[in-house]
Amino acid sequence: MSNNSDFVQLAVAGVRGLKPYQAGKPIDELEREYGVQNIIKLASNENPLGPSPIAMAALPLMISDLARYPDGNGFTLKKIISEQFDLAPSQIILGNGSSDALEFVVRVLASSGDEIIFSQHSFAMYPLMTQMVGATAVVTPAKDWGHDLDVMLQAITDKTKIIFVANPNNPTGTWLTKTELVAFISQVPSRVVIVVDEAYHEYVQEEAYSSMVSLLSATPNLMVTRTFSKAFGLAGLRAGFALCHPELADLLNRIRPPFNVNSMALAAAEVSLTDTDHIDKSVQLNSHGMLQLTNAFSSLNLEYIPSVGNFVSVNVQQDEGAIYEKLLRQGVIVRPVGNYQMPGFLRITIGLEHENQRFINALKNAIESDLY
Ligand SMILES: *Cc1c(COP(=O)(O)O)cnc(C)c1O
Repeated sequence: MSNNSDFVQLAVAGVRGLKPYQAGKPIDELEREYGVQNIIKLASNENPLGPSPIAMAALPLMISDLARYPDGNGFTLKKIISEQFDLAPSQIILGNGSSDALEFVVRVLASSGDEIIFSQHSFAMYPLMTQMVGATAVVTPAKDWGHDLDVMLQAITDKTKIIFVANPNNPTGTWLTKTELVAFISQVPSRVVIVVDEAYHEYVQEEAYSSMVSLLSATPNLMVTRTFSKAFGLAGLRAGFALCHPELADLLNRIRPPFNVNSMALAAAEVSLTDTDHIDKSVQLNSHGMLQLTNAFSSLNLEYIPSVGNFVSVNVQQDEGAIYEKLLRQGVIVRPVGNYQMPGFLRITIGLEHENQRFINALKNAIESDLY
């Protein structure tokens, strides 16, 4: 290849320093690379039940309309969201996945010289987005694997633009109570935007947990994000949204590409929001699967981080990369999270009962034998 790529040196500094986001290994890729069949993937916190059956029935009807551009304003989806959340449509930003909306807020508010605060062991997109715009990441030490809100408050400086709080957090599955989070938000100066990322909201069943949506009307510097990728089972279509003050929403909409959510995604998201049965089933399956996995970890004497999401991180007490490889050879894809400063940990998405069992058997093999 010719080496006339001088333009590489001209790329903005933040981009040259980036390492691409490491997604869960796709099933096809494992088939190609290892020649294994009958693969199960418990690596990306996808819903093992798939999308709502109502969404699946709606999608074929959309195909004949694919020559048309989608509704760039997402009128119908915003209407449904605004009714469900009791907010004005002007407070909603639709995203190509919620990470799209997270990126908008970073690009609108932060650039070189600004600081963005988030916790150790939190979602890997926050550091990527921070670096992308050349801002400085202020990573606060975790407390019991979760956010230390006091330390996050102390980390605020004149340069702080955004604070990310994932509740529940990924990859640890830890969560913050309503009381803790409300007290925190009330102490953040109004010039700093707090983003509460509620990607796993639907799964949480703790009494003391609450969404921060109810604070939006009184807190102009608050943004809450939700996704259709997790409990709604639509990760492949890419849809999510952010809720905030209309003035912040207006700023984000200025940089939002006009057709960032495609017509299939809009249609599926609209009906998915109304299918509460499917969410109930998904949450129930998740609770059972969580018990199945954590019981297995206990009987193997493996420490795990108690999680309220649809995943659980477990300490395999040896090189997690090696165990990950041994699982791959048995056709089981999970997520090694050593790169989240969690050496020895694997994150497992809760699957169907038989998938969880296959993982448990494969994990026993991987830990106890040198055969693989
Ligand atoms: C999965 C996830 C998201 C959402 O990703 P999408 O772009 O909506 O698919 C956002 N935040 C966290 C913490 C996540 O784990």
